[in-house]
Amino acid sequence: MSDSVLTGYRVLARKYRPERFSELIGQEALVRTLENALSLGRLAHAFVLTGVRGVGKTSTARLLARGLNCIGPDGEGDATLEPCGGCEPCQAIAAGRHVDVLEIDAASHTGVDDAREIIEGVGYRPVSGRFKIYIIDEVHMMSKSAFNALLKTLEEPPDNVKFIFATTEIRKVPVTILSRCQRFDLRRVPTDMLAAHLVTICEHESITADAEAIAAIARAAEGSVRDALSLLDQAAAMTADRMTIDNIAEMLGRPGRTDSIAILDRAMQGDTAGALAALAATMAGGAEPEMIIADLMDIVHRASQKAAGGTLDTLLESERDAIDALAQLGIARLGRAWQMLLKGHGEVTSAPQPPAAAEMLVIRLAHLANMPTPGDIVQRLAGTEPASGPPNPPESPSEAAPAPTISAPQPDMMAGPPADDPPPATMQATGGEVTALRPSPLPTPAPTPVAEPDNVPPPQPQSLLDISELAEAHDDPLLAAHIRGHVRLVRLQPGLLDICLTDGAPDSLPGDMARRLSDWTGERWMVSLSDGPGGMTITEERRAAHQREIEAIANAPLVRAITEMFPGAEIESVTSAEHSPEDQPDEDIPT
Ligand SMILES: [Zn+2]
Repeated sequence: MSDSVLTGYRVLARKYRPERFSELIGQEALVRTLENALSLGRLAHAFVLTGVRGVGKTSTARLLARGLNCIGPDGEGDATLEPCGGCEPCQAIAAGRHVDVLEIDAASHTGVDDAREIIEGVGYRPVSGRFKIYIIDEVHMMSKSAFNALLKTLEEPPDNVKFIFATTEIRKVPVTILSRCQRFDLRRVPTDMLAAHLVTICEHESITADAEAIAAIARAAEGSVRDALSLLDQAAAMTADRMTIDNIAEMLGRPGRTDSIAILDRAMQGDTAGALAALAATMAGGAEPEMIIADLMDIVHRASQKAAGGTLDTLLESERDAIDALAQLGIARLGRAWQMLLKGHGEVTSAPQPPAAAEMLVIRLAHLANMPTPGDIVQRLAGTEPASGPPNPPESPSEAAPAPTISAPQPDMMAGPPADDPPPATMQATGGEVTALRPSPLPTPAPTPVAEPDNVPPPQPQSLLDISELAEAHDDPLLAAHIRGHVRLVRLQPGLLDICLTDGAPDSLPGDMARRLSDWTGERWMVSLSDGPGGMTITEERRAAHQREIEAIANAPLVRAITEMFPGAEIESVTSAEHSPEDQPDEDIPT
């Protein structure tokens, strides 16, 4: 670019720095707020501008400084959001030589002495301007003592002093400072707006560029005007006549959209060889594997948005049809592809050979495309196996379509008391996800009625569980917990209880039980410790019942079909039908 320097070439980012607020790209809300404040004469003493790098914080600060001190072409003008650009203050500020406008980069002036200097200066009237203006960039970098010194000034700022702070990390700015500032959040500039801006500049600069190339630059800039212009600069320097997507792909190491769409399209149709060939061609074009996967994710995201009822307005004409076609795959398939890409992206970035990892990911993606979604399986099974058990319709109100229900076989190894039999399992399909459901929470025997205080003789406990529930009913949760966790039943007869205890049981437990049982039942109870083997504790029984339940569900035909189709899939949890879909475990896909 040496000849560019000779001919006085200015980088685009500087050449197209906004000269007025109407030229600020994508910050309409900020401009409107400032306009209102200015017209009402309600400008704050201090402003803080926050946003990611390159969105225009410094440009905004300088514009604001100019507007505040502009006197107009005739020297009579007031503070304005449309600085004339021609008056002495405007020109001096633009050139960075206005005595009353001080730009401080806190990243390199972090000491308390700098803050003290500022404060000393605040005491003097502005030399020539209407306002003395301090622009402090990266204000979050200031030291704590510098903040403290500044705070005193902010508490009682002189009328003719304004502070404009800019920061990328607003959370690091003390609240005491923020509370005295008017805050403006500069948002990332939307991609389509950036692209439109780039097109305008290309026209001014006589740069010929394909729309796809411009879109790729805008996407890569991720909302930063400055980055977008730097990329355009670079690309223009590399391009002889016409800027194409290939130039950009080569420059950025990013794939062209059509390349990415080709990979995804092949893969989602289950065409492994075609997808691999498209991937190889894209990598041969200079695109980094990681960037390719990121682009695939972006496309899947867009297609999902479309499938969910969104529009593709912000996309290029050339991309729309292809993404629309992908959207036809439906949210279930796209969601599954997204999960796989998300996981694979991490693998590609950390793999010793990213190209190989990208290939493996594309192979898996194509393989997955051939598999039915759980929703498909449910439909298929429902068609061939009409519900054999008693119909058990799902209770979830979100069920629009009637979901098939399939009852699980009763487990054959029910060793526990009949009341512990798990109720029949049902399957529910929701938007392509399958969740094992059970009609009621943890199985419990019919609750023992709480003993009435008077006349009616209280019922006698028939099981350990009855005793623990009596304890709960009489507001003794600690004793109930000890009974559940530490007591093994050896023998239970009216007035007589033989038990043994697990390790860690309190010594007083048998005595406590005898005393409390006598109180609760009105009968005399003897509790004796026995050497006998004893049964399971209530806690152990519940755990075993839960395990049986999982095994029972695993044997249900639908679940078996799923686990056969997704080797390695495991039932992680069983969710009750009353629970909302958010509680359901994520679909587990072997990858
Ligand atoms: Zn002016």
